[in-house]
Amino acid sequence: MVELSPQAIAARRQRLARVRDRMAELGVDALFLSHGADLPWLTGYRAMPLERLTVLVVRADPDEEPVLFVPALEAPRVPEAGGLFRLRPWRETEDPVELAAAAASGSGGVRACAVSDRTWAVSLLALQARLRAARWMAASTVTSPLRAVKDAAELEVLRAAGAAADRVAGALQRGDIALIGRHEADVAAEISRRLLAEGHAQVNFAIVGSGPNAASPHHEPTDRRIGRGETVVCDFGGVLALPGDVGYCSDITRTVVTGAPSAEVAHCYAVLLDAQRAAVGAARAGATAEHVDATARHVIAEAGLGERFVHRTGHGIGLEEHEDPYLVSGNTAVLQPGHAFSVEPGIYLPGRFGMRLEDIVVVTDEGPELLNHADHSLVVVDA
Ligand code: ZN
Ligand code: ZN
Ligand code: ZN
Repeated sequence: MVELSPQAIAARRQRLARVRDRMAELGVDALFLSHGADLPWLTGYRAMPLERLTVLVVRADPDEEPVLFVPALEAPRVPEAGGLFRLRPWRETEDPVELAAAAASGSGGVRACAVSDRTWAVSLLALQARLRAARWMAASTVTSPLRAVKDAAELEVLRAAGAAADRVAGALQRGDIALIGRHEADVAAEISRRLLAEGHAQVNFAIVGSGPNAASPHHEPTDRRIGRGETVVCDFGGVLALPGDVGYCSDITRTVVTGAPSAEVAHCYAVLLDAQRAAVGAARAGATAEHVDATARHVIAEAGLGERFVHRTGHGIGLEEHEDPYLVSGNTAVLQPGHAFSVEPGIYLPGRFGMRLEDIVVVTDEGPELLNHADHSLVVVDA
């Protein structure tokens, strides 16, 4: 169980007020938060993905106390949140859907509901059967623009997570993590161990793609042995928590080369580095999310490699590894101070080699703030 600090509780009180304002704006009477990151964001409680219903019911009316329904056996895991919500454990013989529907109806009834995106379909169907007259929408419509703007406490954890990931990237670049002759999967396991040793509570993923495997952006590490003179894409991240609150995610990619790079690899990397720097520089308040993507894409296309950059430039990060805002063509959302996201262009030559460079960036009033500082150049690792 997380012991929430007074600051963490105060932050949640402010979040709840903003959620209610937005519910009123959108005409949403009741919000159901089951599985997913909205729940710990508002309560400090991460529900296990059990089949039994866990749901926080929030009414737009500030006079009606939010109620968190949890299976009785889970109740001891719910943090004390200073009266932010009422905890209502339900016993095995009770019907939690009926309880939640009654709480959602409150004193004024319910015409429009929002339900968290990761709620089990079976729970939503049961709620809909109880509240037949209500209109439904995804809770992210309410919460996502609020969650995307990180407050000071959230930024502090993201910075700590970034610094921990940087230390692992530094070990990789110094040659402390042996590469040559080793299976990709062994390297991935060592990176995972080091993330934990550097303070992460959980590893979310560790991609190690060498040689031709580096050309597959989400390559699953295999027993391929890493050779000499190959590019090795290492992309890893996890969850780190500071005392008093739930954890936030890290995510970093560094590409190293096991021996002097060929002229072609060195050229591609120079293009990649330019593209990533330009995109980081474009991550300013007032710019659109798609503008950052276009900035990276333009540099790579100018070098004649546009076809080799096969994914969006980045994704928001916070309680979830991937969340709003997404840096992708078509996303005209305007960046604001507090937005945190990855900037991670890549260049992939199928069957030959690949490379990606990723940092987490925060938009501030003073311009983009990098949360990752590990060497950005193409480091040669002779180990
Ligand atoms: Zn990815
Ligand atoms: Zn990544
Ligand atoms: Zn990423």
